[in-house]
Amino acid sequence: MPLAPEQRGDQSVAPSLVRYELLHVDAGTGARRGRLHTPHGTIETPIFMPVGTAGSVKALAPDDLRTLEAQIILGNTYHLMLRPGEQLIGELGGLHRFISWDRPMLTDSGGFQVYSLAEMRKITEDGATFQSHLDSAKHVLSPERSIDIQETLGADVIMAFDECPPSLSERSYLEPSLARTTRWLSRCVTSWSRLRSSLFGIVQGGLFEDLRKRHAEEICAVDLPGYALGGFAVGEAPEQMHAGVGFSAPLLPKDKPRYLMGVGTPLDLVTCVGAGVDMFDCVMPTRNARNGYLFTSQGKLVIKHARYAKDPRPLDPACSCYTCRSFSRAYLRHLFIAGELVAMRLNTLHNVHFYLQLMAEARRAIEADQYADFVKAFRARPTVVSE
Ligand SMILES: [Zn+2]
Repeated sequence: MPLAPEQRGDQSVAPSLVRYELLHVDAGTGARRGRLHTPHGTIETPIFMPVGTAGSVKALAPDDLRTLEAQIILGNTYHLMLRPGEQLIGELGGLHRFISWDRPMLTDSGGFQVYSLAEMRKITEDGATFQSHLDSAKHVLSPERSIDIQETLGADVIMAFDECPPSLSERSYLEPSLARTTRWLSRCVTSWSRLRSSLFGIVQGGLFEDLRKRHAEEICAVDLPGYALGGFAVGEAPEQMHAGVGFSAPLLPKDKPRYLMGVGTPLDLVTCVGAGVDMFDCVMPTRNARNGYLFTSQGKLVIKHARYAKDPRPLDPACSCYTCRSFSRAYLRHLFIAGELVAMRLNTLHNVHFYLQLMAEARRAIEADQYADFVKAFRARPTVVSE
């Protein structure tokens, strides 16, 4: 039995929907400086949202995220519905209270993981049936079920249930898929209570400009608090993605937040902010950190490399995070090689700090009408640490 509407989500905040405030558009690019007002606080955009897959940003505690000044984090509906289940989270006061995070939060629809993780999936007009990757139990995810789960979790922003086709899909596959995603949006809107969570619609269309345009018109004809671009960074080359976002982001309404789902590398973020994207999420900084791949102002650094065995320098001399202020590359390499658990935390602290600071720098560059110079300077950085 679904929980009654008044039992859903975080009860400690007054219900209201998110509202976007466009502060400034960079004079030389499409980059936007804005604010997203939510029931759990205001987010300065453009922003990167660390991914808290199963109710935690892996290796970090909420205290770490507050120190890093993370403004909003993500939860994954697919993972949370399977374990521990949205009913349990709802009964314990909603996702904010369950994970002890009182700042804004966004949940995805679960659709993307159904397509990427689940076994034996089948998509019909009604929705997706699939087997859990955990125990092969059969589940159904439909527009109605996805919205019900997300409202029970109670995030500030919830996402429409869509199909995310591979970006290199043929037109013949995409056209019926896009039409179904539009029909699914209508069902999401019908199910959405509007009590606490704000529903964002998702524009698909692969790399076809005309399909993106047509789908943006269909999705944005539904008046929603925000819109997202889906189906990027799912197999295409970075240059193709940058071009696709370049023509897709301006198709979205100027007075609403624009969210590019599942993107990306630091270069992807810097490039797509220039196209007018406001919000990003990606597992890259956290997953790479756990694998010892670290982003620095001098390019990527692989901490396990033997040349760091006696290196007394910080990971990134230009970084002010706890890891870089406190430890040498030699120590971080030792921790990683020895499989010490704190290596995961220290590496993740650094990578998330790098992403969040990059967005803070981007915001300052937009405010100063210097975003094109900022992109140029970023592209001139080395891609790999040279020594
Ligand atoms: Zn650092």
